[in-house]
Amino acid sequence: MSNSKIWLSSPHMGGAEKKYVQEAFDTNWVAPLGPNVNGFENDLEKYLNQEVYVGALSSGTAAIHLGLIMIGIETGDEVICQSMTFSASANPIMYLGASPIFIDSELDTWNMCPIALEKAILDRISKGKKPKAIISVHLYGMPYKIEEIHSIAEKYEIPILEDSAEALGSSYKNQKCGTFGEIGILSFNGNKIITTSGGGAIVTKKKDLKDKAVFLSTQARDNAPHYQHSHVGYNYRMSNICAGIGRGQMEVLDDHVQLRRNMHNFYIEFFKNIDGVSVLNEPNNDYFSNHWLSAIVIDPQKTNGKTREDLRLALENENIESRPLWKPMHLQPVFKEFPYYGHKVSELLFENGLCLPSGSNLSNEEKIRIKEILTNFFK
Ligand SMILES: *Cc1c(COP(=O)(O)O)cnc(C)c1O
Repeated sequence: MSNSKIWLSSPHMGGAEKKYVQEAFDTNWVAPLGPNVNGFENDLEKYLNQEVYVGALSSGTAAIHLGLIMIGIETGDEVICQSMTFSASANPIMYLGASPIFIDSELDTWNMCPIALEKAILDRISKGKKPKAIISVHLYGMPYKIEEIHSIAEKYEIPILEDSAEALGSSYKNQKCGTFGEIGILSFNGNKIITTSGGGAIVTKKKDLKDKAVFLSTQARDNAPHYQHSHVGYNYRMSNICAGIGRGQMEVLDDHVQLRRNMHNFYIEFFKNIDGVSVLNEPNNDYFSNHWLSAIVIDPQKTNGKTREDLRLALENENIESRPLWKPMHLQPVFKEFPYYGHKVSELLFENGLCLPSGSNLSNEEKIRIKEILTNFFK
């Protein structure tokens, strides 16, 4: 059996991508605008299926940055953010000279804990500073506790920026992730469920917000024949080449979701007979995860002392990539001075959690290799 590298999550082309990219070359739309950009936005709007407007941008990080600007975040403001996430959720807060306030996770979805969230809001208000926005994340494609989090946000009238970078194709009560927040964001980076090689999008229910995002992302040019500017602009628009890849990927998105869910079931099936290992799973039927990454937590007290790091190294030995869960932001050196509300849920998840190969393009042979190593490891 070959020993070629098995990746955690790698790009998976469907076939039609080249056709759209070829069209862009044939018509010389090799620019950060063009028919593929509009087409990709339309495809996403149709897919999200909610009266939403989508603006295609150069990255998910750019989308979060513009989203915070449109919510009105300024220097000195405080912005609440889920602690267990990728740093790109929090970095744009810093770009704006604002301060992040980090919130712990809960154990059902591993996302923002509603109890810690409300505690944080009340404490910040008592200190004289009401947070201006909440960034909540659907980690690994698992929807966060939508109803609890949104009812707290409404109660205190704080807008939610919904970081759906990992959750295109996930839904809660049949409503697609990305459409719940005041502003939603998507990512099409190389490791996400679909990719444009690099890219992102902003999702909003308001046409004027989309128009504003596009305006800001194309250097904020006023309507004049010369270059006239009344606002600080950004160069954040998606290129027509990348959008061509995106249009091809949209044709296979639902297949990718199914294939990732199959990978998840493969792990559920494997681990159901193994003590001390649990797989991140939908708490009930209201939740539908794209299972972008399949993730487990290991309790070493029930596995004869075998830890997640032992498993990671055992897989690495066989040229198989796995990765610890996101290290919480409040434990990151760059964010250590900022407030954190919660206990140790995200810390324990980080300590004992591991993401396993989850790509939609894993072959049967690769699955057999993975299973063999897991079997030997837990023997
Ligand atoms: C990937 C990711 C982002 C950033 O998206 P990019 O397109 O890579 O800039 C933001 N948040 C989360 C949770 C992500 O996983």
